[in-house]
Amino acid sequence: MIVDITNEHAMEQLGALLAQLLAAPALLFLQGDLGMGKTTLARGFIRACGHQGNVKSPTYTLVEPYELKGEMIYHFDLYRLCDAEELEFMGIRDYLDHSIALVEWPDKGEGMLPEPTLELHLQSHGEGRRGYFRGDPALLHKIEQGWANG
Ligand code: ADP
Ligand code: MG
Repeated sequence: MIVDITNEHAMEQLGALLAQLLAAPALLFLQGDLGMGKTTLARGFIRACGHQGNVKSPTYTLVEPYELKGEMIYHFDLYRLCDAEELEFMGIRDYLDHSIALVEWPDKGEGMLPEPTLELHLQSHGEGRRGYFRGDPALLHKIEQGWANG
């Protein structure tokens, strides 16, 4: 399923829509090159869950936790992960079991991450971005409808 995301604001709105549609436990893979808007989408998602401060990119910390409405959201950025086995040492499974996890650069953790609930691949498209979703058809249908209804 394909969506066009024309600017930064729309990317945050897409994140907010996903926040409405995903409930824990959920694993969202955010793929695409540097600068494609992965962190922007994560910011929209996390703010829609009630976070009011900054959402900084967890490039150096690998993960940033948020406790919102009694739910844990973990924002991962695995760009600097050297060895996927590090995720094992971090206890990645415990993070994922009861929470929502948003993962930038999931390919870096290949073999250590379970199948995602939903996968979004972002590419540039003119001045904006185009997103390719993969996941459960019923979920994709809800995203498509929510996106069309703005
Ligand atoms: P990533 O985390 O994928 O490296 P960022 O979320 O940091 O990317 O975004 C990089 C830049 O892209 C930011 O300047 C942001 O404003 C811009 N951006 C995000 N989404 C869009 C979009 N849909 N269209 C155009 N620019 C966007
Ligand atoms: Mg990022």
